[in-house]
Amino acid sequence: MGPRNAHELFEALDRDQIIPYFQPLVDLRTGVLTSFEVLARWDHPVDGIVAPDEFIPLAEETGSIGELTDRLLHKVFAVASIIPPHITLAVNLSPLQFRDLNFPRELRQAASAGNFQLDRLVLEVTESALVGNTQQAGAIAHELKQLGVKLALDDFGTGYSSLRHLQMLPFDELKVDGSFVRSMGVTRESRKIAAAVIGLGQSLGLTTVAEGVETRNQADMLLWLGCDQGQGWLYGRPVPIAEVPGILARDTLLSGEEIPDQFLGPIAPHMEALPAQRLAQLEAIYDGMPVGISFLDRQLRFLSVNKRLAEIHGFSVAEHLGRRVEDLLPGTYALVAHLLKRALDGESFSGIEVQDPRLGPHLRRRTFLVSLQPVRDEAGEVVGVSTCNVDISKRKQAEEALREAEDHYHHLVELNPHIPWTTDADGLNEDLSPAWERLTGMPPHEARDRGWMRALHPDDIAGTCAASQRSAATGEPFDVEYRLRDASGNYRWMRSRGFPRRNHEGQIIRWYGSLEDIHEAKTTQQALIRSEALLKAIIKAVPVGLVFAEAPSGAILMNNPQFEEMLQRPAISARTLADYQKSGARHPDGRIVEPLEYPLAQAIVTGEPAGPRDMLFKRPDSSTTWIRCSAAPVVTEDGKIAGGIVATLDIDEAFREREALLERIASLEAELSDLKRLLAPADFALDVPVPGWMRSPSR
Ligand code: C2E
Ligand code: CA
Ligand code: CA
Repeated sequence: MGPRNAHELFEALDRDQIIPYFQPLVDLRTGVLTSFEVLARWDHPVDGIVAPDEFIPLAEETGSIGELTDRLLHKVFAVASIIPPHITLAVNLSPLQFRDLNFPRELRQAASAGNFQLDRLVLEVTESALVGNTQQAGAIAHELKQLGVKLALDDFGTGYSSLRHLQMLPFDELKVDGSFVRSMGVTRESRKIAAAVIGLGQSLGLTTVAEGVETRNQADMLLWLGCDQGQGWLYGRPVPIAEVPGILARDTLLSGEEIPDQFLGPIAPHMEALPAQRLAQLEAIYDGMPVGISFLDRQLRFLSVNKRLAEIHGFSVAEHLGRRVEDLLPGTYALVAHLLKRALDGESFSGIEVQDPRLGPHLRRRTFLVSLQPVRDEAGEVVGVSTCNVDISKRKQAEEALREAEDHYHHLVELNPHIPWTTDADGLNEDLSPAWERLTGMPPHEARDRGWMRALHPDDIAGTCAASQRSAATGEPFDVEYRLRDASGNYRWMRSRGFPRRNHEGQIIRWYGSLEDIHEAKTTQQALIRSEALLKAIIKAVPVGLVFAEAPSGAILMNNPQFEEMLQRPAISARTLADYQKSGARHPDGRIVEPLEYPLAQAIVTGEPAGPRDMLFKRPDSSTTWIRCSAAPVVTEDGKIAGGIVATLDIDEAFREREALLERIASLEAELSDLKRLLAPADFALDVPVPGWMRSPSR
């Protein structure tokens, strides 16, 4: 390896021999990759890879550091697309570049040319960049921040460390120099310095990164000190771009190489705390605890109480200190005095329920779970009692409310004539009310999942399964009727209906439903359907015409075909009783039939059967026909007249025959009286019997 000179370096730049290496930065807690630091390497044709210490100072001296960085950035922008966008890329800036007012503009141009989002870029500068250059550095830093670039203060803790520097520029990150990390394992003093440096970064709200992490122990210690990220050989050495995909493919970089650590035994982290910091944290925890805590001395005076307990007691913390429990809280003291005294004798108590004798907010009495613990000094003497109070009123109330709600629910379920059920999202039965077992004789555990289907009528299983699957798939309400075998082996018609319950994301978590015994309704309905069919058949079969009308209007509802055949037309389209006259029927004596003389009208008005009445109807073809009508009202169960029905009989032929007979009788009678006159004084009478149906209709 020859001495490096300016000429050689220029050549290297020209020949593109300065290349970026990438070293991973990880989240200390998880070991997950967060960033890569770009480190310059000289890919020397003879000497191989040359470290930056050998050429960066030369580049700075000869003024070519600007070009070097420029070329490096171009190369980084060019390969950045293979690295996921949430992973940032950190590039080192020479202090000299922090004096170059053109730098931000050049950076912006290079980034946009390389299609690189500048919010992925972190620029690392050392404090020497800021010394004696605060104004210019400030201007450049602000311009860079406006481009979205993040700034990291590199090698913090070495050199010119000054808090002013930290305050002056808008840094996002603080990189704790590797020397602190290394020395951390050596002396307690250096650990304290590392803790202070990290604590400083934390208190300024910066992301802290530890450099040079080589061992697990260092990583653990850094994590415990509150450091955010780590960089070092433990997670990976700087590598050329070709090896980056291998790093990206790993979930965590924790299992990287580990440098054996000769200096350190295991360290109990809590021994290393900064006392003031730890105390403040402890106090915050103490006050922030959701339980009330106090320490009582042997005289049962409050030596210490946390905020929560002060709130519970309704006095300020200051009002507690030095006061005796007996004086401050006489009511409570009376309840626990015996326990406090026993605690002073060395007994511990935990989980004792104490009801506050005073009324709390909303005038409810509060219940506390109290623990009492004797506190001893080094010699084992009891010096006081620590108390711990947890307000369980809410839990108590909730428990009671829950019990009540459960009771309520069980009553509802018990009294419910229906059988409530629940299933899981897939429709597998989870719960059935006790009424299920009473009905089917099947214990609930046998009904679980699809067990209940064994009580189904074999013919109803397929349909029920299909409906259940359909509902589970679509979320449509479930509504099925099926027959269920009851305890005595008879099938009963049931209707099962269910609705899905969804979580806040809209996913079905459960189905709620209930099973209703519809056997009576179903069998009644079936009987109705049967009687209706029967009635229809009768109406069709009888040799009489039938007309139905509703009450009280008298509007005609329907007639059967036989009626139409008789009159050769449908029943008149009467809407009212008066319309009946439109049919123009006549009495045997030739008089027009008045509306209320129609038997159907009579039956509807009087609620009594009416007729028979013989009437002469005109047909559409002007022929006439004799019809005998008998009507009856349709009376509902509660005695209301719902309508009427009239039966019509074709008596035309009989009527005309009778007319003819009557005519013949009349002429015979005439002949007879002529004969009588001729045969006079013969004295005899001739009596011709006439059958009843031939006589004039009587009413
Ligand atoms: P740096 O910015 O502090 O970079 C971290 C250095 O620590 C790197 O040395 C890195 O390889 C090394 N390192 C990382 N992990 C470990 C570890 O676990 N143990 C040990 N012992 N060392 C570790 P490297 O690559 O030799 O770089 C040296 C310095 O050269 C850098 O220190 C930086 O100041 C400078 N440098 C590197 N590249 C550039 C660049 O592109 N521009 C400028 N201006 N300076 C650069
Ligand atoms: Ca660096
Ligand atoms: Ca560094």
